[in-house]
Amino acid sequence: STERLFSANPGPLEVLKRVYGYDAFRGKQQAVVEHVAAGGDAVVLFPTGAGKSLCFQIPALCRDGVGIVVSPLIALMRDQVEALKQLGVRAAALNSALSREEAGAVMRAVRAAELDLLYVTPERIVTDGFAELIGNARIALFAIDEAHCVSQWGHDFRPEYRTLDRLAGRYPGVPRIALTATADPHTREDIIERLSLANAQVFTTSFDRPNIAYDIVERDQPRQQLLRFLSRHKDASGIVYCLSRAKVEDTAAWLDAQGIRARPYHAGLDRSVRDTNQDAFLKEENLCLVATVAFGMGIDKPDVRYVAHLDLPGSVEAYYQETGRAGRDGLPSEAWMAYGMADVMQRRRMIDEGDAAEDVKRVERAKLNALLAICETVSCRRQAILAHFGEAHAGGCGNCDTCRNPVETWDGTEAAITALAAVYRTGERFGSGHVIDVLMGVANEKTERFGHVDMPVFGAGKDIPVRTWQSVFRQLLATGLIRIDHTAFGAMKLEAEARAVFRREREVRFRKDRPAPARTGRGAKP
Ligand code: ADP
Ligand code: ZN
Repeated sequence: STERLFSANPGPLEVLKRVYGYDAFRGKQQAVVEHVAAGGDAVVLFPTGAGKSLCFQIPALCRDGVGIVVSPLIALMRDQVEALKQLGVRAAALNSALSREEAGAVMRAVRAAELDLLYVTPERIVTDGFAELIGNARIALFAIDEAHCVSQWGHDFRPEYRTLDRLAGRYPGVPRIALTATADPHTREDIIERLSLANAQVFTTSFDRPNIAYDIVERDQPRQQLLRFLSRHKDASGIVYCLSRAKVEDTAAWLDAQGIRARPYHAGLDRSVRDTNQDAFLKEENLCLVATVAFGMGIDKPDVRYVAHLDLPGSVEAYYQETGRAGRDGLPSEAWMAYGMADVMQRRRMIDEGDAAEDVKRVERAKLNALLAICETVSCRRQAILAHFGEAHAGGCGNCDTCRNPVETWDGTEAAITALAAVYRTGERFGSGHVIDVLMGVANEKTERFGHVDMPVFGAGKDIPVRTWQSVFRQLLATGLIRIDHTAFGAMKLEAEARAVFRREREVRFRKDRPAPARTGRGAKP
């Protein structure tokens, strides 16, 4: 009963106009679409909201055969398939949520070449059953969505994604396109290597979201701080993220009592409650959704005016993806976070007590430190965030709290030189814990074994407290003077820019130590 929308192979622009009703491609969409439609492999690293879906949907519609889309979440698939059907595209999903009969119908449609796009979960695609199902059906392309899931350095590692490297061998000649909004250099390398995409063309675009204002405050009286923040967004919708389900419910109830329309969302709520609250959020214009990270992936609400974090996320990637849900319509929006040392302790404990292997834990600790570095930066937050994703930004964005209200700083040039020298002299092979031991002149098994006790840098930092050194290293990381090599046990390495500091061509300023954050419990239930 279904029929292709076009007689012969249509061009990308024709598909864009006739199927989607858009006049023009955005940014680098056209380059990607043309490359893949012509049979090339691609790695697409665009931020949330840039329009990645069209990058594989349009080439699939331009080419003969069915486009197969690997997607990690059934809910995400369902939304995309629904949206495509509305546009008249012949799309279906194959996943564990289908009955036998439904799955049978989808398989028949594939073999009869009656589908344009088929969404599947990664564990299904590499099975023999799937190869049989495909049989002689022509495949237009493979799209691997949320491709960062293949990387252990990503915040959302899914082991099933690792099997996708078999696609290249099993289906030679079928173009593959991997897409993600997470593009720190480690993840990027992992995607290319793990998915055998060394010959793919890589498409990147700036990750900057200029319409999002960043504001990171030290937590003092969290509820009052949140209330003050929300008073700036009275007639708008937004998301407040909390770490625990209990805190989600408490916060939502409390906000409601304060006269702010708020609803909770977390995976422990009844499905019907969750769906009701999500629908209300999607439809209404002034609802505050208080949620755990269970909420958000695949949500396409353009007018989210703010994203607030009451707890520190686990990584810069997670922070950026969550805050990135604000302002998809391009209008001014705000990303606000309150954090305290208590978060840091809690996150560290979650990592330490988790079941992950030691090397994974090491990565998680480094990721947490990278986020802390952004929290503590004295310069433009946007610059620090983008630097994390390997993107240069001149700083002084004027749309973050540190740009609007410069923080109190101290001249840390000498301290920075001492710190960088210690990293260099110890061979760029150690994490900050050990290097600080060296600076403080701590004679222990490790400093003795490596002969660091005999070096001039040993004890060279004694007149500065350990706590300040920790902050110094986080800030050196934030400003891109050092980086952490996750592949070398979290060793700190000097970046090229460090030379300018050694030569005293570059002044370094550090954020003044904050008073010890006590009172984390005031005004909030733990
Ligand atoms: P991403 O997956 O990169 O987060 P989506 O593919 O969900 O982004 O697209 C974000 C929004 O932008 C969607 O509502 C989509 O329809 C819209 N969009 C994408 N490309 C275009 C375009 N060329 N013109 C207008 N709107 C577009
Ligand atoms: Zn700024």
